[in-house]
Amino acid sequence: MLLLDGLGALPAVLTDFEEKFVIREKQLPDQQMVRCYWISLFLTFSCCFGVLHASIGDADPSYRSCINDCEITGCVGDICFPHCNFSSDGASVDGPWYMQEPLYLRWKQWDCHSDCKYHCMVNREKDRAASGYEPVKYHGKWPFKRVFGIQEPASVVFSALNLAMHFHGWLSFFILLHYKLPVKPDKKPYYDYAGLWHLYGLLALNSWFWSAVFHSRDVELTERLDYFSAIALLGYSLIVAILRSFNVRLEAARVMVSAPLLAFVTTHILYLNNYKLDYGWNMKVCVAMGVAQLLIWAIWGGVSGHPSRWKLWFVIVTGALAMLLEIYDFPPYEGFVDAHAAWHATTIPLTYLWWSFVKDDAEFRTSVLLKKAK
Ligand SMILES: [Zn+2]
Repeated sequence: MLLLDGLGALPAVLTDFEEKFVIREKQLPDQQMVRCYWISLFLTFSCCFGVLHASIGDADPSYRSCINDCEITGCVGDICFPHCNFSSDGASVDGPWYMQEPLYLRWKQWDCHSDCKYHCMVNREKDRAASGYEPVKYHGKWPFKRVFGIQEPASVVFSALNLAMHFHGWLSFFILLHYKLPVKPDKKPYYDYAGLWHLYGLLALNSWFWSAVFHSRDVELTERLDYFSAIALLGYSLIVAILRSFNVRLEAARVMVSAPLLAFVTTHILYLNNYKLDYGWNMKVCVAMGVAQLLIWAIWGGVSGHPSRWKLWFVIVTGALAMLLEIYDFPPYEGFVDAHAAWHATTIPLTYLWWSFVKDDAEFRTSVLLKKAK
């Protein structure tokens, strides 16, 4: 998840398209038709191009000239990329007819651009390290080492572990409700917040899945899916916090409380997706929703005297402290674990504790309801 990723990004956002084709246009001034073609293509497939945030690293002239050279020669130093094997008039140099199709070429150009960017960055960072300089960001990201083509292997592993932890938590919650705790005569659990937590589990699994995908390959589509699923989870968690802490059990009252929040979160996602992907505004919305639910849970834990309130408080305090990692934003250790990856690592044990709290709450509520029934 990258709720706080926007912190390090400058407001000026360059798209892959702009950077790539502004450079290309200099090389092909006569290709007005090609330009129109690419613009319409960009509008149609805008989801397939990566959003780039301007950073110190990519402003470096030697990095930029390395990319320019690489896209012409297809090589960085001794390493050459087969993806860059296309001629300047847009036709494939060799290979069968299907390899000369525009779709294939587009991917080829995109892969070529991505390979050039990566290897120019690696070379530039080697030179900088040799001169004793600290790593700098490129297009809003620290220079990570790729593993099997995966851009940020540590963040992918931690996202997958978070996903596994949520699955384990949700599954054990399900087993507890249906097989361990007493159930009503109609086989439904006594715990009246079961449905809310099931949906929470689904949204959490969805969110960590897209987080793993985004950290594997960062393009605009995967970035948006990661952002929007994280916002959906955060918004829904706030609804759960309100419904649980104020003991909202009537269906009509639940709808009345959640409808405005659902409308707000939906509008926020539509605004980001269709109007403006405003990182600063999104940050404010996410921080407001996050702080609100942490306060609600923390206060409710104390006021209600919940038997598992220490778990709740521990998750809140540690989760809030882990957020500082995102603000501190240190470069990747050995090219792998940066602050963001470390933040994803800390949420793994917290997820375990969180589901443990949810299960305790189910047991607690069930015992209260059964006592009342007697
Ligand atoms: Zn992330």
